[in-house]
Amino acid sequence: MKRLLILGATGSVGRQALDVVARAPEAFELVGLSADSGWDALLWLARQHRVKRIALADPDAAARASEAWTDGEVLSGPEGLARLVAEADADLVLNAIVGSAGLGPTIVALTEGIDVALANKESLVVGGELVRALSEATGAQLIPVDSEHSALHQLIHGEICTHPASIDRLTVTASGGPFRGRTRAELEHVTIEDALKHPTWEMGGKITIDSATLMNKGLEVIEAHHLFGTPYDRLDVVVHPQSIVHALVSLCDGATLAHLGYPDMQVPIAYALHHPDRVEVPVPALDLAQVGALTFEAPDEEAFPCLRLARDAAVAGGTAPCVLNAANEVAVHAFLAGRLAFTGIAQVIETTLERVGAGRVHSFDTLFDADAHARETAADLVEVRA
Ligand code: NAD
Ligand code: MG
Repeated sequence: MKRLLILGATGSVGRQALDVVARAPEAFELVGLSADSGWDALLWLARQHRVKRIALADPDAAARASEAWTDGEVLSGPEGLARLVAEADADLVLNAIVGSAGLGPTIVALTEGIDVALANKESLVVGGELVRALSEATGAQLIPVDSEHSALHQLIHGEICTHPASIDRLTVTASGGPFRGRTRAELEHVTIEDALKHPTWEMGGKITIDSATLMNKGLEVIEAHHLFGTPYDRLDVVVHPQSIVHALVSLCDGATLAHLGYPDMQVPIAYALHHPDRVEVPVPALDLAQVGALTFEAPDEEAFPCLRLARDAAVAGGTAPCVLNAANEVAVHAFLAGRLAFTGIAQVIETTLERVGAGRVHSFDTLFDADAHARETAADLVEVRA
């Protein structure tokens, strides 16, 4: 039995993970759940899954949950979240928090030598080098939950053990989002509702907007670089609107291996939680005749500059990806609040990168400082444009 802790339990990935756990009660013991501020939803989940310890990142929400819950313990604030991770004696932590707030808990888990099933790609975007080094130092594994990276993990696993030098290139696919095919000018006046209509995946608000700007694919290129140690010039993105092929691995002999399946996060979540075992997941078997056509096209970096901004920040390295990520979080938040146009997202990120610049990373504190500085700068830029 694995002792499992789920962070971000009230979110899209968190709830689907709870379904995976509920289908395999013999495989998991849930030792804690966390959320940001949705205390009543988290309490409901804790009661339903008989969990006795929870953490809420928002102290006011934690206080209210404490009052309402007499037969369990509520930890409060980011420190409470860190304590939940450090004290749970977990075998596996699923980090399904959204945004750079997920980095702290990833660090705590890896420092304690606990394996992390990582949905929070921002942990690797912001702190890739240090997170990787920490995982290597303590021997704690990072198992990807992101569908493309789960696909790569599955494809690479066998190959890398037998022929480590054979891998030539990795490719992640992108659906292209709801605005695929539009020009930059046509994107000026798109609405929040339009941007939230993802064609193939149902996800939380932030990643859905990241998918519409293609920033999500930029973040995923950085995520793949750190997970698999692949240089950026060997990491490709191809737009594939059907989201049936999730990733490709090209080998030195001209063969390319692909991972296929209907877009359903239950598959990569179950893979990460049960790893190294495989279990049955209630999803339909892939019927390619019924799918009919699989199509592919190059991403349009003119209309969707976020992909280029992410690649440039990735290659610049140091604190640049951290600054990019923080500016993106602020800009997406402002867009979802109706304070910034869709095309303003890329502009805020680009100007924040120019103003804040990139420095060397000495420690995790360098990253927390760069994140805070970038957030302030991006917030000022949003203010000016509003
Ligand atoms: P979501 O918005 O649905 O849920 C986010 C969860 O994080 C919630 O439980 C929320 O309470 C918690 N949270 C938010 N801010 C927090 C903070 N400051 N401190 C602590 N907890 C906080 O998000 P999601 O769509 O489930 O995505 C979660 C992560 O997984 C993201 O990094 C996303 O990129 C990644 N991911 C999601 C999907 C998907 O299908 N949703 C697919 C691939 C990767
Ligand atoms: Mg993905």
